[in-house]
Amino acid sequence: MQIYEIISRKRDKGKLTREEIDFFVSGYSQGQIPDYQASALLMAIFLNGMDDEETFHLTQSMMNSGTVLDLKSIRGTKVDKHSTGGVGDKVSLILAPLVAACGVIVPMISGRGLGHTGGTLDKLESIPGFRTDLPLKRFVANLREAGVCMIGQTKEIAPADRKMYALRDVTATVNSIPLIASSIMSKKLAEGAEAFVFDVKTGNGAFMQKPTEALLLAKTLIQIARRFKKRAVALITDMNEPLGETVGNSIELVETIHALKGKAPRDLMDVTLALAQRMLILGKKAKTAKEAESKLKKAMESGKAIDKFAEMVKKQGGNPKVVYDFGLLPWAKFRVLVSSKSQGYVQSIDTRRIGLCAVELGAGRQKLDHPIDHGVGMLIKKKVGDPISAGEALAIVFANNLKKARQASHEIRGAYTITQRKTRRLKKVLSIVDERGFRPLKSKTRT
Ligand code: URA
Repeated sequence: MQIYEIISRKRDKGKLTREEIDFFVSGYSQGQIPDYQASALLMAIFLNGMDDEETFHLTQSMMNSGTVLDLKSIRGTKVDKHSTGGVGDKVSLILAPLVAACGVIVPMISGRGLGHTGGTLDKLESIPGFRTDLPLKRFVANLREAGVCMIGQTKEIAPADRKMYALRDVTATVNSIPLIASSIMSKKLAEGAEAFVFDVKTGNGAFMQKPTEALLLAKTLIQIARRFKKRAVALITDMNEPLGETVGNSIELVETIHALKGKAPRDLMDVTLALAQRMLILGKKAKTAKEAESKLKKAMESGKAIDKFAEMVKKQGGNPKVVYDFGLLPWAKFRVLVSSKSQGYVQSIDTRRIGLCAVELGAGRQKLDHPIDHGVGMLIKKKVGDPISAGEALAIVFANNLKKARQASHEIRGAYTITQRKTRRLKKVLSIVDERGFRPLKSKTRT
């Protein structure tokens, strides 16, 4: 087989066979195919796409490039959740222990911040001592003992995806639906879950800004899961403003802890409960959304959810006292109030700008090897639909440097559009894609 022939076929809009895809994935991950030929093929895929069968074969090849965990010896259904990434998106941190407290096993391999979006691992690492780099053996043991474990991608899980993703990142080939879907699914399938819930975000703070792109990605993820005989549900949710009231690491962890005790802003709770309900149903712990919601609420009210979070923190090397002593978390030196210059109603928020502003403060990385400043971030005081008076706070910036705080204040003000006309809150949970196809959803948030 010749890589040259494979590249030319995809360049000419042809279809690749399973054998050709396997040849490429194993050849590239073992260093037999050089970066320049892999880049050419990835660009041809980016431009000409892949059909469902090719996407399935690519997922399978990447999944099989490393360890595929078998969690069958652990009792109970294993259900994972994946988000395509957003600003203020701390849903995984709340949902994993919450759903585990209701008896579902949650094996979660999460990512770090990417571009303007925050990462679950970075947020968890705000907790002193918390380890996200546990070896797979420990990951499995924690799942058996606690029912939940949250770690990062290890070098054994889908190594071909790791190498290809790094190449895509520098060759402008990330934003391709078959490449994104196969990348996500190869890792998720390798971690041994039996069912999946996807949060596909759309809006000005999402990677898939247009709803049509988000829908296509959701359908592709569901289609791949089906071919692997795994059950899956995707919710398409709004990312036209930060989720909840915090953006950063320590600060999002505090919002997470409040949410696990049942005290969260409405939009954050809506998205979390909508996803968690589906996880309970897939995990066979509830038959209907109503039954699932009542179990989830009980877990929060009884303290089971926060206890499960503390148990997970302890098992992963962190200090569980963090659930009632936020002083254990790192905090920035300065807090600066960002006031509105005009009065009216919040019409829109440029969420990507808010995310980039958090990165600039140090909450995310500008380069892969940059350290994170876990104590910086922002408290969002006004969301779309809120009335505001001149001089009232839009946000509070947490910074370790006054120059950066001033820059952040300027960016935050610039991200808000205030209008004189009354505006409405944003609907959060927009639609669902599952085995029955696509359906719009009624959301509770919009008032
Ligand atoms: N996240 C992934 O895991 N892979 C992609 O290709 C994009 C986002």
